Amino acid sequence: MASIFTRIINGEIPAAKVYEDEQTLAFLDVAPASRGHTLVICKQELPTLLDLPPELLAAVSRTVQTVARAITESLKPDGLNIVQNNGTAAGQRVHHYHVHIIPRWEGDHAMSYWRPGESTPDELREVAAAISARLGEGDSA
Ligand code: 5GP
Repeated sequence: MASIFTRIINGEIPAAKVYEDEQTLAFLDVAPASRGHTLVICKQELPTLLDLPPELLAAVSRTVQTVARAITESLKPDGLNIVQNNGTAAGQRVHHYHVHIIPRWEGDHAMSYWRPGESTPDELREVAAAISARLGEGDSA
């Protein structure tokens, strides 16, 4: 079954569109965290960041920057959060790759952040080694 975002692309579900090109579409989130909260999607229905070919990732990134500039110029936020969830455990509810642009104003409390944790230098080295080994870069300092 087509994702809700594919149905928006196909015009089956209405959306407040702000930008469109061959590979990407940007429209307002129906349940905005703040005024101007925008979703940028790739038109090809792929679930997560890990599924996108580099050219498509670049196309989405370009649209994110283009729309972020337009939001900044039109709505004059104090800042922007760029949020991108991958997988249910990470809070992804629509499994069609998308990036959130969330305009922010001082003191708006529109988003909560992660709780800073604790680690030791040994733990950090061990985790970095596991990741970098998959990248073929050997040990990190
Ligand atoms: P996720 O949690 O997957 O990163 O974010 C999905 C987002 O899609 C949510 O913020 C939700 O409000 C938005 N959304 C879900 N259904 C629709 C819809 O039909 N139209 C629009 N414009 N946004 C939607």
